Amino acid sequence: MATPVITLNKLTKYYGKTRGILDLSFSVEEGEIFGFIGPNGAGKSTTIRTLLSLIYPTSGSAAIFGLDIIKDRVKILQDVGYLPSEVFYYDSMRVRELLRYSASFYKKTKNMEECERRMHELCELLELDINRKIEDLSYGNRKKVGIVQGMLHSPKLLILDEPTGGLDPLMQARFFELIRREREKGVTVLFSSHILSEVQNLCDRVAIIRDGQLVQVDSISALRENTYKRVYAEAEGEIPAGYFDGDGITAAEIQGNSATFLFSGNINDLLSKLASLSLTNLIIEEPDLEELFMHYYR
Ligand code: ADP
Repeated sequence: MATPVITLNKLTKYYGKTRGILDLSFSVEEGEIFGFIGPNGAGKSTTIRTLLSLIYPTSGSAAIFGLDIIKDRVKILQDVGYLPSEVFYYDSMRVRELLRYSASFYKKTKNMEECERRMHELCELLELDINRKIEDLSYGNRKKVGIVQGMLHSPKLLILDEPTGGLDPLMQARFFELIRREREKGVTVLFSSHILSEVQNLCDRVAIIRDGQLVQVDSISALRENTYKRVYAEAEGEIPAGYFDGDGITAAEIQGNSATFLFSGNINDLLSKLASLSLTNLIIEEPDLEELFMHYYR
């Protein structure tokens, strides 16, 4: 099998006594869009900043392109595009100047004409005016500058920390389209977010992180299909309280003759339980990730 693009091996980071991340192990394969999901404070930025060697791990190790993140940092960064969760710039610069300046960091390994071409293409796609001064840009437009900056040297790996904050829905859709196009070219993407609905449509696999620790790594389809179903049932008569308490059922709510709950387990057990009621309506669907997420955090 090909070497994963990113491998974390018990990666741990403490800020003094404060836990940042603890024993994180997972890998991201070439060409996938990998979602890194968790609420604020879970440790997403800490993981990303450690991977980029902006901060150093307390213990454990990680590799990008099979190279050690600390020892081979300079080499790795030539082929990584990074969008930090908060972007800060020299306010008096124009977008064009800033982007050319960023591109110049890659002049030893990349073709500058190609970077320039990419800059124009990306700015056009995101409707970003390269002649504007940074200080005149809205938060969303600054974010776009960060996106272009992270992509103009055509990196093999994109690491995006909460990339969509501040983008309006139209731009968000365009940005996702851009990410998909990059993936088609073979680019690998690690994408952090606390908004699951974003990830659900974009990512192949996700890692869920909570309190600095990994809760689960799975494909989006496995997360949705193999874990929980949302069931909504209506019966002819009143459903007795507690009727749906039992194995595999969570979050049951019964109101008169209707009930809703999450189910995980053997679907035949569910059907026989439902068969004892005289139903007038039944809906079984895949819950969205937001709902599953609530479950993991309960
Ligand atoms: P996320 O990106 O998921 O919101 P962070 O990685 O920013 O989470 O934070 C993880 C934990 O590490 C939090 O408890 C946070 O308070 C702590 N933390 C992050 N950065 C620092 C820092 N520079 N100094 C001390 N603690 C920090």
